[in-house]
Amino acid sequence: MKVLVAAPLHEKAFEVLKNAGLEVVYEEYPREEKLLELVKDVDAIIVRSKPKVTRKVIENAPKLKVIGRAGVGLDNIDLEAAKERGIQVLNAPAAASRSTAELVFALLLTVARKVAFADRKMREGVWAKKQALGLELEGKTIGIIGFGRIGYNVAKIANAFGMRILLYDPYPNEERAKEVSGTFVDLETLLRESDVVTLHVPLLPSTKYLINEEKLKLMKPTAILINAARGGIVEERALVKALQEGWIYGAALDVFEEEPLPKDHPLTKLDNVVLTPHIGASTREAQERAGVEIAEKVIQALKS
Ligand code: NAD
Repeated sequence: MKVLVAAPLHEKAFEVLKNAGLEVVYEEYPREEKLLELVKDVDAIIVRSKPKVTRKVIENAPKLKVIGRAGVGLDNIDLEAAKERGIQVLNAPAAASRSTAELVFALLLTVARKVAFADRKMREGVWAKKQALGLELEGKTIGIIGFGRIGYNVAKIANAFGMRILLYDPYPNEERAKEVSGTFVDLETLLRESDVVTLHVPLLPSTKYLINEEKLKLMKPTAILINAARGGIVEERALVKALQEGWIYGAALDVFEEEPLPKDHPLTKLDNVVLTPHIGASTREAQERAGVEIAEKVIQALKS
């Protein structure tokens, strides 16, 4: 059987595929024209957030049985077209949970201790000791919105920092909450009482602009907001206003309404926000896990 790997995967994932006796064809992010040619005789395709597996691609692949996504989001795959053909679509949803949770704390400490700001000043030759007065995390309250895989990992790390944990999730997992000494509360209580608010929900119609002007106004003026979930969960226009007018202390964003973030975006003009280019899953460990997990799942699906 033949597998097309159409995106860079960890070398161990290639080993797993080859050891299972599969013929592996590798082409990094082929354009649609090339992809249409490559899929003609393959049994499986493995992609990341690129390339797009469109209806046309699926129609051009008569033997295709499995589409594997090394990671979480399936936005680049025409799920409807796959379903019509009975093609299985698989992903590796837990591969980046720990890495994303660790990024949350990297961002949180960067905002709390003004690390990025101080670093910028150092490069300008300015010793900004007074302006870099920060906040400590121990004893502070962290509000976790969305207590799934990543939210749970964030809570475990928050425990190590000696933080009090508030949780909000429409499907509360009480057992897990107990494990991390977290307490479920309603969203308004979480926003009013938390020193740190971090988002770990999917982007759905119900979570679009979950954090808007009204919600930002409920937060403490000393609070920090982190979004490493999806752009659009926080209304950026409202956040810019909140940061300019000091409704909150600071924020950090790994995800944006438009990605890549447009040049000269108002967020890039503010000192109390830290920005990263969607790097939650960008660790060697998460990439290895995602690659190996998807390779194993694709093999299993082809064999069954
Ligand atoms: P998950 O499915 O394990 O958890 C999501 C949780 O959100 C669930 O417990 C669900 O009940 C809850 N939820 C749904 N609607 C809600 C609402 N309106 N209010 C509060 N909670 C709600 O997902 P996960 O793996 O923890 O991922 C969380 C988010 O992180 C997703 O948006 C995912 O796309 C994103 N993510 C980002 C990166 C990155 O690179 N920054 C990497 C991986 C995942």
